[in-house]
Amino acid sequence: TMTHSCLDFGQIIQRPANAIKELIENSLDAGSTTITITVKDGGLKILQIQDNGHGINKDDLPLVCERFATSKIKQFEDLETIDTYGFRGEALASISHVAHVTITTKTADSPCAWKYAKMKKKKILIFFIRAIYSDGIMVPAKAGGSSDAKPTAGNTGTQIMIEDLFFNVPIRKKALKGSAEEYNKIIDIITRYAIHNSSVAFTCKKVGSNSADFRSISGTTRDAIRQSYGPAIAKELIDIFHTNTELEFKLDAIVSNANFKMKKMVFLLFINHRSVESSNIKRALENLYAAFLPKNSHAFCYISLEMKPQNVDVNVHPTKKEVMFLNEDKVIEYLCETIKEKLANVN
Ligand code: ADP
Ligand code: MG
Repeated sequence: TMTHSCLDFGQIIQRPANAIKELIENSLDAGSTTITITVKDGGLKILQIQDNGHGINKDDLPLVCERFATSKIKQFEDLETIDTYGFRGEALASISHVAHVTITTKTADSPCAWKYAKMKKKKILIFFIRAIYSDGIMVPAKAGGSSDAKPTAGNTGTQIMIEDLFFNVPIRKKALKGSAEEYNKIIDIITRYAIHNSSVAFTCKKVGSNSADFRSISGTTRDAIRQSYGPAIAKELIDIFHTNTELEFKLDAIVSNANFKMKKMVFLLFINHRSVESSNIKRALENLYAAFLPKNSHAFCYISLEMKPQNVDVNVHPTKKEVMFLNEDKVIEYLCETIKEKLANVN
């Protein structure tokens, strides 16, 4: 059942990679074990995700694209102890404001799948103004309202099709880097989630292509790292596990040793299973590795931190992914001390 959360976290979709991150998190929340992503034109023309998760109830379909509609909070107290990625009920709403969204979904107990199209209601007025002032041809084909769910064939799971992302926000489209670069950013975010969720099989390909540009098969975290960065890295990795009851954090990391060199630092940070950025942690690690690696060589660092949700602020600024959390200095200190010790031992 859907409830409405009352908090505005200001989620902003700035580029296709932001959208795919939200969609992947939804698929993971739904318990998916395979996630397939299909992309056209760097995600601007088509960004599609297919999962085998628990699906969406037919009756909830008209609600899922509404702001603050989420199935993940049942009562207000839940906000304190959220253990799913999503809880704001804002991602699909944000996306459906800047793209055409079609959801095809089937729950296990439904006899068929349901297809629901949320076509962005274009501001008709703008159309007219454009037509009057620019001699432009009006193409309002996709500008209709939302339709009802229609029965269709399909397996249990959900497919979300995003078409013409930013069609109505040309300024945001202009700020992007071009298809190839946007596609790389999509692959980057998939790689992160594939490593953090190594039991889930991820695939990413371009529309019409038979070969995948990214593929991970279900296995260990190390398997996923090897699949993403090549076989050479596998034997040069260090595991770190640590539970700190006093500072209330749990650390689970896999980092490269001093024998392994990357052209650019790979820094994959997860806090409470959400991919985030922390320039403080990154800088500390870069400085640490600089003492062990030759010049212009860099490390691979995958770090997963878990802490009480109320100690983390993942939305410092709506346009930034930078994370802030309690005891940051001490967590960084612990991390660096531990890695330093291990790097010294390998040498
Ligand atoms: P949130 O994830 O914060 O709840 P979203 O806008 O991302 O908000 O999603 C809205 C709702 O749509 C979710 O709460 C969930 O019920 C449903 N949903 C979205 N994607 C999926 C999916 N892949 N599988 C099952 N349910 C989904
Ligand atoms: Mg979500």
